[in-house]
Amino acid sequence: MQKKALLVTGKAKSVYATDDDDRLVIHFRNDTSAFDGEKKEQLDRKGMVNNKFNAFIMQKLATAGIPTHFIDLLSDDEVLVKRMDMIPVECVVRNISAGSICRRLGVEEGLELNPPTFEFFLKNDTLHDPMINDYHIRAFGWASDEEVATMKALTFKVNDILKALFAEAGMLLVDYKLEFGRFHGEVTLGDEFSPDGCRLWDAQSRKKLDKDRFRQGLGGVVEAYEEVAQRLGIDLV
Ligand code: UDP
Repeated sequence: MQKKALLVTGKAKSVYATDDDDRLVIHFRNDTSAFDGEKKEQLDRKGMVNNKFNAFIMQKLATAGIPTHFIDLLSDDEVLVKRMDMIPVECVVRNISAGSICRRLGVEEGLELNPPTFEFFLKNDTLHDPMINDYHIRAFGWASDEEVATMKALTFKVNDILKALFAEAGMLLVDYKLEFGRFHGEVTLGDEFSPDGCRLWDAQSRKKLDKDRFRQGLGGVVEAYEEVAQRLGIDLV
């Protein structure tokens, strides 16, 4: 597989074309950002950890019947994926209150949400990713009704699979964000699943093991990601 032109430089990943129109290479960098890119740092090993973490999770999800972008790991920090037409919305499911739902609704952190909530956000840093609903998605043509239904169903199916996976390793899946695209018309999970885009707490102590360590200046960010990976049995070398 020949890596070619750099197509997009995101906040933490870069995307390259390949000699196959249906495939892209994603490079996971060590750059870490929060608050729509206002807080930025380089964290050693983070690109490698997130690349391997994402590959492990995407393969688990694929085995459970979720269509994903993952094709093959290419190196420590690069993965070969399907080239998709991305849908510009973020799908967030929450099992426990944390982050923006606490700020928006004035609820305390750590409340169990029964049933888990589902939220859509528009992917737009300049507008600070505003919350949207199904009607905005339809009215502005970001996705069809059928695609909206599929994104919701797949995001909840991911919750069942991953809540159980993390529970077995002594962790709570507090919340997470997924992004989907179309691959030859099929709604397919893309972007990444890593501790950068979800919240994970130790089930006993409720210690934060995700990007909140960076957002809140708690330190030990990559060490926490590595602990999660090690508990799941991911080989980081
Ligand atoms: N999230 C993300 N990217 C975003 C916004 C949120 O990956 O641009 C993730 C975040 O890490 C958390 C979940 O989505 O796991 C819910 O985030 P929330 O709405 O609470 O926003 P935050 O507090 O992160 O601003």
